[in-house]
Amino acid sequence: MATFSRHDGVLYCEEVSLEAIAATHGTPTYLYSRSAIETAFLDYRSALSDMPHLICYAVKANSNLAILNVLAQLGAGFDVVSIGELERVVAAGGDPGKVVFSGVGKTPAEMQRALDLEIKCFNIESEAELLSLAALASASGRVAPISIRVNPNVDAGTHPYISTGLRENKFGVDVALARQLYQMADEHAALNPVGVDCHIGSQIEEVAPFVQSLECLLDLIHDLRTLGIRLHHIDLGGGLGVHYQAETPPSIHDYAAVLKARLKDQDLELVLEPGRSIVAEAGALITEVLYLKPTLDKHFAIVDAAMNDLLRPALYSAWQDIQPVRLRDGESRVWDVVGPICETSDFLGKDRAMVLSPGDLLSIMGAGAYGFGMASNYNTRPRVAEVMVQGEATHLIGQRESLSDLWQREVIPTGDES
Ligand SMILES: *Cc1c(COP(=O)(O)O)cnc(C)c1O
Repeated sequence: MATFSRHDGVLYCEEVSLEAIAATHGTPTYLYSRSAIETAFLDYRSALSDMPHLICYAVKANSNLAILNVLAQLGAGFDVVSIGELERVVAAGGDPGKVVFSGVGKTPAEMQRALDLEIKCFNIESEAELLSLAALASASGRVAPISIRVNPNVDAGTHPYISTGLRENKFGVDVALARQLYQMADEHAALNPVGVDCHIGSQIEEVAPFVQSLECLLDLIHDLRTLGIRLHHIDLGGGLGVHYQAETPPSIHDYAAVLKARLKDQDLELVLEPGRSIVAEAGALITEVLYLKPTLDKHFAIVDAAMNDLLRPALYSAWQDIQPVRLRDGESRVWDVVGPICETSDFLGKDRAMVLSPGDLLSIMGAGAYGFGMASNYNTRPRVAEVMVQGEATHLIGQRESLSDLWQREVIPTGDES
C-alpha cells in the first residue's frame, strides 16, 4: 500500500487523514509512517540476506528516539557523528556494539565514551585522529576497532554541499595515506584495524559512483592482505538518493543487489550507512496557509512553517513536492510557498500551481530526512510536533516546544555577581 494516498480528495498517511493529525496536534507538524520506515530498512536487509551485512542507519537523517527504536527493534546498527547521537542510540534501545562512529572532528571525550560503550568501529578520518584515539585506548587499557575513511576521489554527481568523496573535500584520506595508516594501526597494540569505509555524498542517483568507490576499497583491501593486514568489513557509507521530483534513483533493492554481486566471494561483511533512503519518503510536514498575497510579479502563499522548520529548500534550493491536504475546486494559480521568517531565502517551494484559500492545509512531502533534524529556533520559533503514524493509530513522538523552553537556558546577569 502506498504510504500517502487520497480518499475523497483528502490526503492520508497510511490510514490516518492529515486533517485529523492537524486537528489533534496543530500545525506545523511533522509526521512519519512507521511502515514506510520499516519497509525501506527491510528492503536493504532482504537484498543482502544471504551475505554478511549490517545496515547502520545514519542517525543524523532523523534522530527522533521513536524512529531509532523502530529500527533498533529490527536489528539495525547505527552510524553516528557525535556523542549526542551515540547517547540517543543508547536511550532508544540500540546496541552500541552495532554502532560505527564517523566524522572528522571527534573530540577525546567523545572517543572515550565510545570506547567505554565498546562500539563496533571508529571510522577514522585523519592521522591526527588515529593517534589521539590510540593514546586514549592505551591509557584506558582498551583496543579500539578502527576503519580508515578513504576518499576515493569519485564525483557523486550531487549538490556540492552534500558531495564528500572528491579530493578537495574535508572528508577521509587518500588511498596512499590510508595504506600507511593501516600499517601504523596494525603495529599499535591499542588499535585493531577491522574495516575500511567511505561515504561519497548524499542524494546520489546513479549506481556507478558507488561501484567505483567499491572497486577502490577492494583494491586497498587486497593490497593490505599482501602486507598481512586482513580487514573484516567494507563500509560503503550512505548516500542513496530518493525521489523528490524527477529523480530516478535506483531502488534500494537494485542498489544493494549490485553491491552483493560484486562482493559475494570476498569473505567480507558489507556495512552500509543509509539515512535519507530509509526515512525521507516516510515523512511529511503539515502546514497551514495563513495569508494569500498576490503581487504584480508573484503570488505568495504565506504558511505557518518556515525555513527554521525545514531548511533544505533554503540551504540547497532543494525541491520538495507540496500537496494541498484537501483538493478544492476553483482556479489554479501559481504560488511561491513562503514562511514568516525575515529572510528572502525563507521559501518552501516556488512556482507551485494550486487552488488555495487561507486556512488550507498543505503537506510538504519527502520531509522525513534532514527535516526536523536541521530545525532551529531562528526567529524564536518553537520546534514543531512530531507524530508517528501506524495503521489507524498516531503517536506523538516529539512534543512541540513551548515558548519558555526557548529561553530557559538563558540568564540575565543581575550585576551584583562577580
Ligand atoms: C550523512 C552521512 C550518511 C548518510 O547519508 P544519506 O545520504 O542520508 O544516506 C552516512 N554516512 C556518513 C559518514 C554521513 O556523513
